[in-house]
Amino acid sequence: MKHLLKDAGLWREAALIDGSWVDETPHGRYELRNPANGEPLVQLPRCKEAETIQAIEAADRAFGPWRKKTAKERGEIVRRWYELIVEHKDDLATLITLEEGKPIAEARGEIDYAASFVQWFSEEAKRVYGEMIPATKDRQRIIALKQPVGVCAAITPWNFPAAMITRKAAPALAAGCTMVVKPASQTPMTALALGELALRAGIPAGVLSVVTGNDTRVIGSTLTSHELVRKITFTGSTEVGRVLLQQSAATIKKCSMELGGNAPLVIFDDADLDIAVEGVMNAKYRNSGQSCIAANRIFVQAGIYDALAERLAEATQELRVGNGLEDGVQVGPLIDAAAVEKLEEHLSNALAGGAQILAGGGRHPLGGTFFEPTVVSGVTREMTIAREESFGPIMPLVRFEADEQVIALANDTVFGLAAYVFSRDAARLWRAAEAIEAGMVGINTGLISNEAAPFGGIKQSGLGREGSRHGIDEYVEIKYLCWNGLDAV
Ligand code: NAP
Repeated sequence: MKHLLKDAGLWREAALIDGSWVDETPHGRYELRNPANGEPLVQLPRCKEAETIQAIEAADRAFGPWRKKTAKERGEIVRRWYELIVEHKDDLATLITLEEGKPIAEARGEIDYAASFVQWFSEEAKRVYGEMIPATKDRQRIIALKQPVGVCAAITPWNFPAAMITRKAAPALAAGCTMVVKPASQTPMTALALGELALRAGIPAGVLSVVTGNDTRVIGSTLTSHELVRKITFTGSTEVGRVLLQQSAATIKKCSMELGGNAPLVIFDDADLDIAVEGVMNAKYRNSGQSCIAANRIFVQAGIYDALAERLAEATQELRVGNGLEDGVQVGPLIDAAAVEKLEEHLSNALAGGAQILAGGGRHPLGGTFFEPTVVSGVTREMTIAREESFGPIMPLVRFEADEQVIALANDTVFGLAAYVFSRDAARLWRAAEAIEAGMVGINTGLISNEAAPFGGIKQSGLGREGSRHGIDEYVEIKYLCWNGLDAV
């Protein structure tokens, strides 16, 4: 598959530790497969505790010289990384489609999104301002400095193999931290290509390492228990986030957690239906529904329910499913067999509870891990599909009557990542947006992710924010200086 890349140097079959490509470890290799056809893609070295510690120690050695660079110098190097990512967009997108399965157009969109964080934080490096605080005593001055946290460890999921890394690495490096990345074991090829581009950009050895392998628990517990690691930044499921928080407690690490969601999408009866249909399709089917902010429960007000359900079923039936490398494909395969089985369980539970299928309804004739985009009507709050993140192309429709009722239903979950509301009435939108318990609310849109906005969740969807001017705060500590003995003039 290497032949599909214009720059073969981006195809890396080794871990990146301390600026060197590590081809062999004593633990052998593990195999990656293309989710679109199940064919073997590549074999990568299995890193375990010793290799993870090497990466941590290299990050610690690199930290001193990297933090000593001026913010402007670091910003310029990170900017160069951004330029190289943009220059190699097609190859990076091909790697994403090969290992993750998403349609190539979406993969290119992910690279734009991933690069936007690198650009943004290359600029923010220069704006990590401290504070001069009016002192409480004569002859004293109070100063607050912002300093890099130190060695950071990033653990990232497979669904956005590039963006989930740059959203963490760019602010960390801009702030003066160093980082060890453990990408998802199913999608390390994009991470390794980003590592190659980081080296070409002049990011020094050890500042950014990428540890490969499928001995996930060993790598994870080494990162969370090592005293040199000062910060854990994780994107993934709430279940694993909870484990990492527990493991990090022993050494009191700073933690940011971007976790699972169960996003409500509410369509009031005065909504513009064209905008609502477009919004639902975007919020549901991006990456075959495998997105943490995917609309998981679609609440439609009774007066427009039947008409909207019909339109959503029609739009869903028109989606083209296939291998993401083929032109025009809109929905790719799911990541693995377990993802398909989960959707089947959700669907059969919903049907047993009285829901009806309006479009799709099961495995796709293409076989493998392809699943038909599916619309289910008559979903109720008790069904598994409404309580758990489906993480697939299933659109569950729930009928509601009154505004207060839908707010209560929307908040009836332990998650609080994204939410969406559609209406033409500004006061109604404002009330709903304020009342829904979520870190992010899309208003008359299903697309909310961008580098300028603070991305993150509340409740069991996470801690901290990524992107925006707040994103870099996750990688700095505030140190306060109390300066005594100054004579007032
Ligand atoms: P996951 O199973 O939690 O895995 C995420 C990462 O954690 C992977 O690198 C995985 O490694 C690693 N991991 C798993 N168990 C671990 C352990 N015991 N110790 C250390 N690391 C461990 O989640 P996923 O299935 O990849 O991703 C889907 C989830 O991510 C969904 O819940 C989704 O909502 C969430 N997500 C959230 C956001 C957000 O910004 N809030 C964004 C994207 C995804 P392996 O790959 O080796 O198993």
